[in-house]
Amino acid sequence: MDCLFCNIVKGQIPSEKVYEDNDVYAFKDVNPEAPVHILIIPKRHIKSVDELEETDKELVGHIFLVAKKLAKENKLENGYRLVSNIGEEGGQSVKHLHFHLLGGRSFNWPPG
Ligand code: C5P
Repeated sequence: MDCLFCNIVKGQIPSEKVYEDNDVYAFKDVNPEAPVHILIIPKRHIKSVDELEETDKELVGHIFLVAKKLAKENKLENGYRLVSNIGEEGGQSVKHLHFHLLGGRSFNWPPG
């Protein structure tokens, strides 16, 4: 299986890494939609939120705490957005679970 984000984790495709541990990798989005736009992903291939299992609870909680840490590091004290697109109608283009951490500007609701 050829997965873009698995190849980024392996270092086969370059990325601007901002965080890494045993289970999680985070890097700057190549096409930023905000002054801060970081993608936080599990190193293990999981297609989307829709494929999460009971056994992934700790991993997902960990990803959220990494998001909080990166928001703090990027001084997003006025707020930020954490979002995961799921499937075709959700607007997911890369089929490897990822959370967008967006900040540094105001966001509208509802999204487009
Ligand atoms: O949620 P969605 O699947 O659309 O998000 C994928 C994201 O991955 C996009 O924001 C895109 O800019 C980013 N991307 C990247 N590096 C790549 C390919 C895509 O940061 N090499």
